[in-house]
Amino acid sequence: AWARIAERMRTEVGDVEYRTWLQQIVLGPVEEDEVTLLLPTRFLRDWVRTQYGDRLNTLWNQEIPAIRRVELQVMRPGERPAAPIAAEPSESAPVPEPAAAPVSDRASDMRSDLAVPLDPRFTFDTFVVGKPNEFAYACARRVAEKPSSVGFNPLFLYGGVGLGKTHLMHAIGAELMRNGGISVAYMSAEKFMYRFIAAIRSQSTVEFKDHLRSVDVLMIDDLQFLIGKDNTQEEFFHTFNALVDAGRQIVVSADKSPSDLSGLEDRLRTRLGCGMVADIHATTFELRISILEAKATASGVHVPGKVLEFLAHKITSNVRELEGALNRLIAHANLFGRPITLESTQDVLHDILKAHDRRVTIEEIQRKVAEHWNIRLTDMSSARRARAVARPRQVAMYLAKQLTSRSLPEIGRKFGNRDHTTVMHAVSRVQELMERDGAFAEDVELLRRMLES
Ligand code: ADP
Ligand code: MG
Repeated sequence: AWARIAERMRTEVGDVEYRTWLQQIVLGPVEEDEVTLLLPTRFLRDWVRTQYGDRLNTLWNQEIPAIRRVELQVMRPGERPAAPIAAEPSESAPVPEPAAAPVSDRASDMRSDLAVPLDPRFTFDTFVVGKPNEFAYACARRVAEKPSSVGFNPLFLYGGVGLGKTHLMHAIGAELMRNGGISVAYMSAEKFMYRFIAAIRSQSTVEFKDHLRSVDVLMIDDLQFLIGKDNTQEEFFHTFNALVDAGRQIVVSADKSPSDLSGLEDRLRTRLGCGMVADIHATTFELRISILEAKATASGVHVPGKVLEFLAHKITSNVRELEGALNRLIAHANLFGRPITLESTQDVLHDILKAHDRRVTIEEIQRKVAEHWNIRLTDMSSARRARAVARPRQVAMYLAKQLTSRSLPEIGRKFGNRDHTTVMHAVSRVQELMERDGAFAEDVELLRRMLES
């Protein structure tokens, strides 16, 4: 079980992080409901506990349900094995490796010993611009053309998950490196923290700071990660100030605006907000279509317009998922050499589409049904028994049962605190009526379709 858990952690956190923090864990006694993991130093023990404790608990519990607790202990000298037991025993580098070589062939421009390589797919050319992101895009372009211009430093990009923040930051980096002569460092706030702590461990904080403070452009992604990580925030704040004071460009992204990032220190928030703050709004249908069209064209596979519309309609939350769905369709088409149709789309993406089914609420159902039969919304919960009111109410209960995952008592409560047997009765009554009365059945079906779309 431990080998599986260790392997799982490795895939979740990545090789470098795994080797730095988790590889040295040694399996201690496994009791009925508790397992002990041993670590060579207190520092490592504390670190693993705060950073991975919950995850380790969950994984152990999944492997062996009886296990309720994972105890982390510092090993006594005698317990120290000759070589750490780990999923990959041959390797035991305690300090994280520098990031892999950057993609640019102008390697010297990238602080390859610190920064994370840029994704070559994330360029300005491949970024589709629309109303929701045009401002952020324009700001990013501006910074890439003329870093450290007044008013654009720092550039703070924010928006929800999968809306293109990382894409834009990589695009800035790629553009700057293409033009050359400028050193760029990009990393996530999380990486920043790991690097910082690894530097403390290996007593190389001075080098770490010097490296960071020598770049022309520093980009830190997903800054919200630093919430609650006070020491790292402090370190970032100093780096930040040193760079801005030296006329270097900072680009930061987060999921919220500086003023909404509660949990970040006030003076850091203030400084973050004093350059250019640009938000990326949720996508519109039009933008989703443009993105899909661009990606379909780039793939060289023909995807019918109807299918693109269908996807843009169904998957609205984030571009990554939209892209994932399209990629799966394309892969499928390539693999089986069959054209993409609306039917095959529904089939191939069955699971994704299901997860994106709009959740209908009972309130929505009540509203639509009341509208349809022209009764007052309050009559959905009133005690009136007149057929003109009671029948639509029963239909609404029926649809609530069909379209939501609410239980009968829960549904009853939403209809003026009615008993669950009333709901049960309504459901069977409506079914009966639908079988007997075609026009009525059509009405109910129509309502269902409207609510589901
Ligand atoms: P974030 O960092 O905001 O969570 P990403 O930048 O990682 O989001 O974007 C998620 C995925 O969606 C990436 O593959 C990215 O290329 C793609 N994407 C997002 N917005 C756009 C866009 N406007 N045009 C093209 N691709 C986009
Ligand atoms: Mg991102």
